[in-house]
Amino acid sequence: MNESATDWRAHFLGVGARGFNAPASPAWVLEQGGAPLLLVDCGPDIPEAYQAAYGCLPAALFLTHAHYDHIGGLEALAFHLRFADPPAPPCRLFVPAPLVPVLQRRVADYPGTLAEGGANFWDVFHLIPVSAGFWHRERAFRVFPARHHLPDSAFGLSLPGVFWYSSDTRPIPEQAIAHAGHGEVLMHDCRVEGNPSHSGAADLAREYSPEQRARMWLYHYQDADAAPELEALGFRVARPRVPIMLRTDEDAASILQTPVIPGA
Ligand SMILES: [Zn+2]
Ligand SMILES: [Zn+2]
Repeated sequence: MNESATDWRAHFLGVGARGFNAPASPAWVLEQGGAPLLLVDCGPDIPEAYQAAYGCLPAALFLTHAHYDHIGGLEALAFHLRFADPPAPPCRLFVPAPLVPVLQRRVADYPGTLAEGGANFWDVFHLIPVSAGFWHRERAFRVFPARHHLPDSAFGLSLPGVFWYSSDTRPIPEQAIAHAGHGEVLMHDCRVEGNPSHSGAADLAREYSPEQRARMWLYHYQDADAAPELEALGFRVARPRVPIMLRTDEDAASILQTPVIPGA
């Protein structure tokens, strides 16, 4: 398929698996026409991996939840933004509202953001708390709860008609039905064996339809050796720096033109 200026891709900087020459934390970039539109999650080493890929700092970031492998690069990103030369504009930071106090405690409250003073952690971000969804670059994204530890602590993301991203989660087929019923590419947490935090291959086989699994790519498997194991079970598997083609604007046109989230 030839790529056009409007084609959407998912570019994983890390897939949440050890053993690749890439960050072990899962984070990916929504690209349109090869240009980065939104970074999803910011674990350790992700700011550096992002700069290596695009030669700039992220202009927009969505956080799914506050585990270290998803926010551990936030402080480094704040420093990169503060000392960028030439100065960088604030990064639009979309955060599900229940996570704002968690981030305040885990990252922003640390006393003395700068030793010399005169700085607040949030100065370099344009913090946008979100509930059911948000607008970014004229697109209406949707946010929905995942099943990953306590209720209201982890959230998935979708752009109707284009993609649906589970975030770290046990199976949530009801959220795929609600937010990915139009051929969207699904990206799902999965390892070979599931556990109380994460999905396993047998969980996905049981909980999702064959049609949904045919649209699915897996991430957050335990290590690089698990990738061929999951492929042998019939799944497609995301790898770092190997772009995943999402639905095109043409595919998605009828969905994108539909207002989906009042006021969000
Ligand atoms: Zn997690
Ligand atoms: Zn994780």
